[in-house]
Amino acid sequence: MNRVLNFSAGPAALPFEVLSQAQRELLDFNGTGMSVMEQSHRGKAYETVHMRAIARLRQLMKIPDDYSVVFLQGGASMQFAQVPLNFLSAGQKAAYVVNGTWGDKAIAEAKIVAASRGAEVLLAASSKDAKGSYQSAPLQPLWSVPNEAAYVHYASNETIHGIQYGISDALPSLESRGISTICDMSSDLMWRPINVSDFSMIYAGAQKNLGPSGVTLLIAKRKFLDVGDSRIPKMLQYRTHAEADSLYNTPPTFAIYLVDLVLGWIEQQGGLEAIERLNRNKASAIYGAIEASGGFYRCPVEASQRSVMNVVVRLPDERAEEAFVAQAEQAGFVGLKGHRSAGGIRVSLYNAVTLEAAQRLAAFMTSFAASF
Ligand SMILES: *Cc1c(COP(=O)(O)O)cnc(C)c1O
Repeated sequence: MNRVLNFSAGPAALPFEVLSQAQRELLDFNGTGMSVMEQSHRGKAYETVHMRAIARLRQLMKIPDDYSVVFLQGGASMQFAQVPLNFLSAGQKAAYVVNGTWGDKAIAEAKIVAASRGAEVLLAASSKDAKGSYQSAPLQPLWSVPNEAAYVHYASNETIHGIQYGISDALPSLESRGISTICDMSSDLMWRPINVSDFSMIYAGAQKNLGPSGVTLLIAKRKFLDVGDSRIPKMLQYRTHAEADSLYNTPPTFAIYLVDLVLGWIEQQGGLEAIERLNRNKASAIYGAIEASGGFYRCPVEASQRSVMNVVVRLPDERAEEAFVAQAEQAGFVGLKGHRSAGGIRVSLYNAVTLEAAQRLAAFMTSFAASF
């Protein structure tokens, strides 16, 4: 077996221990004589996994008791539509902060919902530059959000551009002003401890930091879910899934099982404080290699907002970037090509990427620069 070092942006690397355990248990889960995939979602064996995943999330993230933890399907992209369907009623306004592709997609979906029912979507702040790209995120004091807004929405980490909020301070929140704050944390949920009560709702597709694709995590204040529109189809109402412990219909059982194993692995690493230390060390290794390269490597992102999860790197020209990706792949480093819309290279350092992998890539970067 020859495992590569995977720096993909998503679906992304999973902990080796988790994959091994899933392999060991694949044919006979816990002495049931069948795979966890073949179990009824109403049966004891699966229910234990499902409830343990929720309990582990609550414990690791210190989620307050008045919040629901819900598993949904459709990816984070489904949330771009489901959020306004639930919380943006006729005559209401919602505010969106946009500092990258995902924020752009979220506001576009909200506008479709708003137009269909006579609501309004406001651009609270945007950092789009003259070329239509992004190199920073608008700081929270620059957000223009009216007090009567139904909610404000932003992404904590813009995966494609490598721009992240809350690296050296708390994540932005307007909850203290009474404005419901909704955050897309698809690419950085659980990279470190956060204060969940700074948000009315947090959502994240699992396939970056938490598990495989196919399940989306939602953490939301129960009181907030209660105000959601009850005239939309039941499957789209958050309360349906919250009230049924995410067992209203068949959940993505195998994906949730893998998320549970990943959460168990995070516990074994020492919880989110330990994970944060690891993530910062990994990011330092890569940013350190960029800084030591005398300008060969360049990160275009505003220094204080350089993502710990996705490091965007430019080389002197596209030829150098192509050569880097090709040679890296030969050396066993994969998933480094930047997003097709952004170019360059992108090093994703999600929780499951080891410090050793990051250090080995940093050494490769240094020797590539020297030999190019
Ligand atoms: C990947 C990503 C998405 C889209 O996720 P899907 O599960 O593919 O819909 C949305 N937001 C952010 C921040 C992401 O990184």
